[in-house]
Amino acid sequence: MPIHDKKTTASISHSEQLKELQEKLAQYEQREQELQDREARLEMAMDVTQLGTWDFHPLTGEINWSDECKKIYGLAADIPINLNTFTDHIYPNDRDFVMEEIQKATDPAVRKKYDVTFRIVRFDDHSTRWIRAKGKVYFNNNSQAGRFIGTVVDITEKKLNEAAVAKSEKLFKSIALSIPKSLIIVIDKEHRFVTIEGDLMVKMGYDNENYAGKHPAEVTSPERYEATRHLYERVMAGEKFSVERKSDTGETYMVHFIPLTHEDGEIYAGLIIALDISELKVAEEKNAKLAAIVDSSDDAIISKTLEGIITSWNNSAERTFGYTAEEMIGQSILKIVPEYLQEEEAQILARLRKGERVEHFETKRVRKNEQLLDISLTISPVKDPQGNIIGISKIARDITEKKQEETRKNDFIAMVSHELKTPLTSMRSYIQVLLAKEKKEGDSFKINALTRADVQSKKMTIMIQDFLNLAKLEEGKISIHKSLFDLQELIEEIASDAQFFTSNHIFHIQNSGEILINADRDKIGQVLMNLLSNAIKYSPKGGNIIIGCEKTNGKVEIFVSDEGVGICREDQKKLFDRFYRVKNDQIKTISGFGIGLYLVSEILRYHDSKIEVESEEGVGSKFYFKLDIQ
Ligand code: ADP
Repeated sequence: MPIHDKKTTASISHSEQLKELQEKLAQYEQREQELQDREARLEMAMDVTQLGTWDFHPLTGEINWSDECKKIYGLAADIPINLNTFTDHIYPNDRDFVMEEIQKATDPAVRKKYDVTFRIVRFDDHSTRWIRAKGKVYFNNNSQAGRFIGTVVDITEKKLNEAAVAKSEKLFKSIALSIPKSLIIVIDKEHRFVTIEGDLMVKMGYDNENYAGKHPAEVTSPERYEATRHLYERVMAGEKFSVERKSDTGETYMVHFIPLTHEDGEIYAGLIIALDISELKVAEEKNAKLAAIVDSSDDAIISKTLEGIITSWNNSAERTFGYTAEEMIGQSILKIVPEYLQEEEAQILARLRKGERVEHFETKRVRKNEQLLDISLTISPVKDPQGNIIGISKIARDITEKKQEETRKNDFIAMVSHELKTPLTSMRSYIQVLLAKEKKEGDSFKINALTRADVQSKKMTIMIQDFLNLAKLEEGKISIHKSLFDLQELIEEIASDAQFFTSNHIFHIQNSGEILINADRDKIGQVLMNLLSNAIKYSPKGGNIIIGCEKTNGKVEIFVSDEGVGICREDQKKLFDRFYRVKNDQIKTISGFGIGLYLVSEILRYHDSKIEVESEEGVGSKFYFKLDIQ
């Protein structure tokens, strides 16, 4: 029984053992499965992170590298490795440091954690790479470093990124500080600020804190970040673009987004440049308005370079000259200047260079159909901000019709004046004969009456002569006959003629002795007569009239001064224009046509001289001009 019992017991325990064994087996299988899983996961993780592993036996010097580790080092999988080959491929400058760290990690007395970043020289292409190695040392019972196992990962890209970002940061900071009205931001892949700098910071809602490393959502507000996030995403996805933004305070900003890439094309940061373009916008609007005015103007508006090359040509220019803008831009202005006037351009340029504006310059131009046009030009220099003349702008008005009208008028005046001249001349000779007769007979009333008639008829003769001269001038028929004569003598002659018109004024002739000049004696005489008769006319209360001349380095200055009503500054500018008459109460009863001073200035222009005036209202006027002494 006991045997049976024993047997029974034994058989029970045997089956239990079997069960236990089976359970253990199952457990082992499960653990093995788990281990396999874990290993697979580890392998996957290593694969994904491109993590290499190494196993070093300090006591034997044996080294084992995983395939990934060999890949990092650029070593073929089947090539064995030893300590020397490992140290040989540490970048020379980093070698001592790495060996020191290994020493400290394996020294039982130190046991320093091994985590080093250093450069290696790859086996295959000898390129330099940055790696990070981590390891753990297992000490044996004798406190000797028996095994040293660890991982290695290639961090070259990360290092390059860091270097590029650091370089960009410095660069962009200095750029931002040197571009006025700008804000420069560099963001990293997570949209964090790497750099934010520029004088627009405060205006654009950032105070001057150091935001480096911070996220826009925390610097401004999550809402503001959300509103701009799509732009950050676009630039980090490699898109280069610009957007225009208007601030609440009215400024306009142009914001440029530029992806920053490594040589291999990988984007490591986004550059954002905001520029305040408000002034530009205002200028653009102004330009647009100006362009609209230019386009709708009735006058031809043309701009050209100093060399005479046309740079703009408006609609009216097309109408006036018959050429389109396409035909003229880039062409020489001489295309519309008649052959015989081509020198005029150089003269105009010379005047502009002196800073003068040329106004109402009447000349001729040719249309595309070869028709000759009468043109009135107003020419102004175009200056750069430093005041240098960089171009010329011309406004041309077609005055052909006006000119034709004037010609008709002039022809009429000339004809009438001519018809009046002959009867007037014979009337004057009758008056003079009668006057001579009366002077003998001595009837003072008749003498007085005839003298007055003589003065008035002389005035009429001068007036008619002025009209005839004007007509000749307009037709370009005026001719100058120069001869050598004594100026002093002419002055005295004209003064005595003029004295004949007045008994209210006292004439003073400044005697400078003989001065020989080469000029048209009759015409200079007319100039003097015009100036003297004006001095008489516009000094209604009488007074002193001085006529004379003074020598000034090679020239003689001739002047007529009076103590009359004077002329205000505004009128002084227009005095020499044809038909210009001053309008004021004091002289409204004084008759005239406004051609005397015009003739004076034209005659002097033909003598390469210029009439000038100094005058003060209520004090008097002085008219003067210069001629060459022979
Ligand atoms: P007119 O005398 O026929 O009007 P002018 O051409 O000789 O024409 O003169 C133009 C204008 O200049 C005159 O209307 C007059 O107002 C002004 N003027 C000319 N000479 C003098 C002067 N000596 N004093 C004051 N005003 C003058």
